[in-house]
Amino acid sequence: MRILVTGGAGFIGSEFVRMLLTRPATAAITPSAVTVLDKLTYSGNLANLDPVRDDPRLSFIQADICDAAAVDQALPGHDMVVHFAAESHVDRSIAGAAEFVTTNVLGTQTLLDAAMRHDIGRFVHVSTDEVYGSIEDGSWTEDWPLSPNSPYSASKAGSDLLALAYHRTHGMDVVVTRCSNNYGPYQFPEKVVPLFVTNLLDGGTVPLYGDGGNIRDWLHVRDHCVGIALVAAGGRAGEVYHIGGGTELTNKELTGLLLQACGVGWDRVVPVTDRKGHDRRYSLDIGKISRELGYAPSVTLDEGLAETVRWYQENRAWWEPLKKPAAQ
Ligand code: NAD
Repeated sequence: MRILVTGGAGFIGSEFVRMLLTRPATAAITPSAVTVLDKLTYSGNLANLDPVRDDPRLSFIQADICDAAAVDQALPGHDMVVHFAAESHVDRSIAGAAEFVTTNVLGTQTLLDAAMRHDIGRFVHVSTDEVYGSIEDGSWTEDWPLSPNSPYSASKAGSDLLALAYHRTHGMDVVVTRCSNNYGPYQFPEKVVPLFVTNLLDGGTVPLYGDGGNIRDWLHVRDHCVGIALVAAGGRAGEVYHIGGGTELTNKELTGLLLQACGVGWDRVVPVTDRKGHDRRYSLDIGKISRELGYAPSVTLDEGLAETVRWYQENRAWWEPLKKPAAQ
């Protein structure tokens, strides 16, 4: 199978590519060729593909998913598109939403049109639990109405619904995954886990939003990618599948675990004004993917966080240059 991966130089997309090429036993799909199409924005990094750089099955195209001509040239000859490329950081979307609407909505529509024109077999759209908004109790099922609150999640909801619309309108073979918060190696150090770990490793402080009571389900990126491959291989066309089942933690609990893993105390935490419109809790029901496709997460939070902290300790050369231009 020839697979085109958009955003394959980012955090999750590069994990997906490394999984396909180096750990075929854990992936439900077997690639004969993998093409990464990535614009290499601030969060895209070719170093994320270093472990597979010399694999003859891998090729790389630097292109913008909004560039219809470039996408049109790249897609022919592939059997599947797995679409990760997006603007992905909520705080950036609050500071300015234009890039989010352009890349996430217009870029996805550009890709969908090209995939339809070139008769690509299957289109896997990678979405997020944030499209549902916030839930106080219980967990969302896949048929829950979307009610996004941030410009990021609203733009992801737009792209997610567009992908489903291309199935219903044009009969395209589309599947959508919605996943909870990921952590792991190669995550750009603006997101909470790598931001906190790298700040702590540098002897600095970490900013904790509001009362620290916001709850997220934390899933190791390897488990997310295993879930995406299962959906790509066996998901039913036109269906949405949740991927999650990590561990629910308040931000304060997560902070405590990261302080412990880095061997430092609460004196390194600085409370800051809460994020605007901060969703209180996300929680996914993962019954559907478990029942239909046999998905189950395999990395426990303890081992996953310990391994992640170790990775940032051992890979300063990867993250130090990325932190230089940013204030935090
Ligand atoms: P990331 O920011 O690390 O990577 C995004 C990648 O997309 C980068 O390589 C970037 O260069 C590329 N890209 C951005 N705009 C582009 C464009 N216009 N054209 C081509 N490439 C472009 O993000 P991530 O955390 O790896 O997230 C990947 C996907 O997974 C996103 O769609 C995101 O919404 C989704 N997701 C993320 C999480 C999470 O916890 N990080 C959870 C659920 C879903």
